[in-house]
Amino acid sequence: MSHAPRHWSKKSLAAQALGHVDPVTKAVVPPIHVATTYLRDPDNQYSSGYVYGRPDNATVREAEGVIAMLEEAEAGALLFSSGMAAATAVFGALDPGDHIVAPTIMYWALRRWLSEEATRWGLRVDFVATDDLDALKAAVRPGETKLVWLETPSNPLWTITDIAAAAEIAHAAGARLAVDSTASSPVVTRPLTLGADVVMHAATKVLNGHSDVIAGALAGAKADAFWARIQRIRSGNGAILGPFEAYLLMRGMRTLHLRIAAQMANAGALAQRLDAHPAVAQVLYPGLARHPGHAVAARQMNGFGTMLSIRVAAGEAAAIATAARVGLWKRATSLGGVESLIEHRASIEGPSTPCPPDLLRLSVGIEDADDLFADLDQALRHG
Ligand SMILES: *Cc1c(COP(=O)(O)O)cnc(C)c1O
Repeated sequence: MSHAPRHWSKKSLAAQALGHVDPVTKAVVPPIHVATTYLRDPDNQYSSGYVYGRPDNATVREAEGVIAMLEEAEAGALLFSSGMAAATAVFGALDPGDHIVAPTIMYWALRRWLSEEATRWGLRVDFVATDDLDALKAAVRPGETKLVWLETPSNPLWTITDIAAAAEIAHAAGARLAVDSTASSPVVTRPLTLGADVVMHAATKVLNGHSDVIAGALAGAKADAFWARIQRIRSGNGAILGPFEAYLLMRGMRTLHLRIAAQMANAGALAQRLDAHPAVAQVLYPGLARHPGHAVAARQMNGFGTMLSIRVAAGEAAAIATAARVGLWKRATSLGGVESLIEHRASIEGPSTPCPPDLLRLSVGIEDADDLFADLDQALRHG
């Protein structure tokens, strides 16, 4: 691992992936460790600390070191084969009968997994508008609720939940707080410093940033029994990230700060211009003063993120037609990459979605902001 001085900023440390230099070749880019098994010492020990590739891998550890540094995670970070594998490991560390409180507005696939799969294993789940702290307080049952799950900003309305206040509510009831911080990234929000116990990322998205890796990450505040159980679940379920993906992720994270700055500048500029667009009924972006989460976002985020949604004034058909007419924007799901993506979210989520049918989700990339606006503008005007 690294011996980088602590006073160097996260930006400096991320740019060099903690500055690790290979001791054999002096390569400034660490090698990809592909071995699945490791030589045992003559005295029957494993002095290197590595035994087998399913519980652990040196390239994975390198990437985990970067995430732990970025999140200020005392327990460290764990990389998984996907964001869903990371999230479900947290729920898997609970016991049958445990009660979970999760947001009404959250990543759709995880919401469905919680209501359809987690319940089969005896977990009890209540969905509540976590941005309403009174509603959250009412939903948490002291002694019964073991986990409060947040997503902020949350898909696809970019709802903001006050992490510090939610941590207080969760902890007062004897529950842990976990935060899906995928849409934010550790450059923008550090949930552990606000009182969360675990932070989760679909590293597939902003952390990797290039739409070419499926990966998930957890970072923990404390190396306690719960964290140890999550570690055992990753190993037992065989959900570790592959070394090639870990390498690509580390390569992506070297430019995280640059990408986020460029993407946030584009997102902010687009939000302002779309807010004044006659074909747009509403822009959902926490950076706009009128967004219900603006004040909390201004307090707990370092910028307002790279994601926004628009509601097309002429309704669902016009929204779908708008997405059909873009050129520079790519019509695709996912988010956080350097290329801008547009998605009619309701048709992906299905009939029971709380997502408004006239909503288009915009993942803002690093292209020229004027080009991005012009492309959307022509698509909206021909509606
Ligand atoms: C994509 C995503 C996930 C799931 O991540 P995968 O890598 O696709 O499994 C979870 N939460 C949020 C907010 C996401 O955007």
